[in-house]
Amino acid sequence: MQFTTIPHPSPTPDADREAAIVDPGFGTVFTDHMVTIDYDEAKGGWHSAQIGPREPIALDPAASVLHYAQEIFEGMKAFAHEDGGLAMFRPEANAARFNASARRMSMPEIPEELFLEAVQLAVKTDAKWMPSTEGGSLYIRPFMFASEAFLGVRPAKQYKFVVILVSSGSYFKGGVNPVKIWVSQDYVRAAPGGTGAAKTGGNYAASLVPQAEAIEKGCDQVVFLDAVEKKWVEELGGMNLFFVRKDGSVITPPLTGTILPGITRDSLIAMLREEGLDVREEPYSIQQWREEAESGELLETLACGTAAVVTPVGTVASPSGEFTIGTGGIGQMANKMREKLVGVQNGRVEDKHGWVMRV
Ligand SMILES: *Cc1c(COP(=O)(O)O)cnc(C)c1O
Repeated sequence: MQFTTIPHPSPTPDADREAAIVDPGFGTVFTDHMVTIDYDEAKGGWHSAQIGPREPIALDPAASVLHYAQEIFEGMKAFAHEDGGLAMFRPEANAARFNASARRMSMPEIPEELFLEAVQLAVKTDAKWMPSTEGGSLYIRPFMFASEAFLGVRPAKQYKFVVILVSSGSYFKGGVNPVKIWVSQDYVRAAPGGTGAAKTGGNYAASLVPQAEAIEKGCDQVVFLDAVEKKWVEELGGMNLFFVRKDGSVITPPLTGTILPGITRDSLIAMLREEGLDVREEPYSIQQWREEAESGELLETLACGTAAVVTPVGTVASPSGEFTIGTGGIGQMANKMREKLVGVQNGRVEDKHGWVMRV
């Protein structure tokens, strides 16, 4: 598809941009441009692809996303390589997952090549926003929502696909900190047959109350149990989990429809297997977690996702008390996996799996 370029009338002055990307943190330093592509069933599907200034989007107050929440998104990153080039990590996997989310939410799929072209164009156009600081990246947020003005309940016939970027600092500024997590008793993230495997905004909306409860209990994040038995550990609000054991096995909860299929999760499975570990996708219970942490069988618990890469879980808290994993500090495998993954992403470690796509 041909992208129309709308020139930016007033791009951010170089000095302002340079000041903004010195220490961008996460989520507020937006770049100058955005990609938009419209979908209209009556016009035969995707049309009007363009890159232009990042600006507010006009929406009819009856736009179905505002009422029935047909919305999906992705989260991915571009990295600077030492040769001055830019690279993305497994963007095809994000494109495929975006379409899996679209199917679950009765939204149109976008051809994977078009998704990749849109993301590449956004990154190329705003490459100057890549932070020069160690560990920085351009965080890429592709999303799609129902824009049709219609209050009946059915899948919309018009959608908008958008790509925006944020300049992001290192997640580990000041070092890696083990997280303390709260086991939610009263809330679940996803139920069988629900939307837990789709990257859709509603899952996040539903996680805010339990997340606030976690903070109130002095924790950093919430961990969700399965909705049926409240027994099996599923994932955090936005990160998947791995349990690293003394006997050389590593367990991660299986993708049975209630867990988001993380691309970091998938990459870690491959990398842990390369270490000779026996990685198993099996249910792991909260009781097992406590017992194995207390007996010393469990060496580490890793939380993983695009934003925080690999983060150690130090302590787990619930109304029935707390337990600590290992020393409560940063385990060997967490460090090794994080360094290797970050190394592949920024081109310093050999990319054996073809995960890196140059922009
Ligand atoms: C995005 C997300 C993850 C992590 O996926 P990555 O592809 O590794 O970034 C995990 N859990 C939830 C609920 C998510 O939305």
